[in-house]
Amino acid sequence: MQARPARQRQRIDGDEVRVDKVGNLYVVATPIGNLADMVPRALAVLQQVNWIAAEDTRHSGRLLDHFGIDTPMIPYHDHSDTRQSQRLLDLLVQGSDIALISDAGTPLISDPGYRLVRDARALGVGIIPVPGPCAAIVALSAAGLPSDRFAFEGFLPAKSRQRRKVLESLQSETRTLIFYEAPHRVLVSLEDMATLFGHGREALLARELTKAHETLIFAPLEVLIERVREDGNQQRGEIVVIVRGAETALEAYDDAEAVRILSLLMAELPLKQAAALAAKITGGSKNDLYQRALALKD
Ligand code: SAM
Repeated sequence: MQARPARQRQRIDGDEVRVDKVGNLYVVATPIGNLADMVPRALAVLQQVNWIAAEDTRHSGRLLDHFGIDTPMIPYHDHSDTRQSQRLLDLLVQGSDIALISDAGTPLISDPGYRLVRDARALGVGIIPVPGPCAAIVALSAAGLPSDRFAFEGFLPAKSRQRRKVLESLQSETRTLIFYEAPHRVLVSLEDMATLFGHGREALLARELTKAHETLIFAPLEVLIERVREDGNQQRGEIVVIVRGAETALEAYDDAEAVRILSLLMAELPLKQAAALAAKITGGSKNDLYQRALALKD
């Protein structure tokens, strides 16, 4: 497992200089559904470390059982109490090797772990990433949207007002956008995206990646919404949504400007009239602007 030399740390105890071996913290990715995606190096690390720190030990127990790994587990969350985190840090400093895993995919990516990595590094512990699947990257690799630059937005807020605020702040983002989405919220989130990004903006709905019911639907947001509305299966399982960024700075500007004009008109006129007038001024779609007006009003 450990091709690199043991790390050493100097500690001064009174007049005596002691050389301690500190452990390594391995940040290990696990499959996002298909167990055949478990990488050999991850298996070797999980077999050989002294401890596995897991988000949900019962859930990860099934993965470890499947691969015949009996390394003891310790629960870890980012909101773990300081005693629990301290225990892991103590073990690392005393020379134990620990592998951090999450329920699925890459730890720290919309998953616990960054505090542990930060605190362990501050103590001189070696941090060793062991790469593997990450749903955001798996979906992006199949999106066929510009991927030289992208913005990972994780989960949108559950409450509609906050969700729309976040989406509004992304209206002029030209990079490809990646969202994680809960199945029971995917429809309302897509509807909000259409309202704020425009109904014609292309997007990918990537569901149950690497699993038996893997589904990839690439279409303008308005078409995706119809598909998801009509077919309840599209509101099940695990979902990544990828949205094309604003095409050009001009489109981004036009979008922001349309919303600014609409907001001004809404302060003076009924919604329908404000939307119609905003459409005339900006050349945008009346229906699009009316949907935006409804969202802004909320
Ligand atoms: N750390 C994980 C990773 O590397 O992808 C993500 C953990 S986050 C708590 C879980 C979310 O990731 C799910 O709600 C879903 O949005 C996305 N996800 C995980 N597995 C997926 C899969 N097989 N297909 C589609 N989305 C998935």
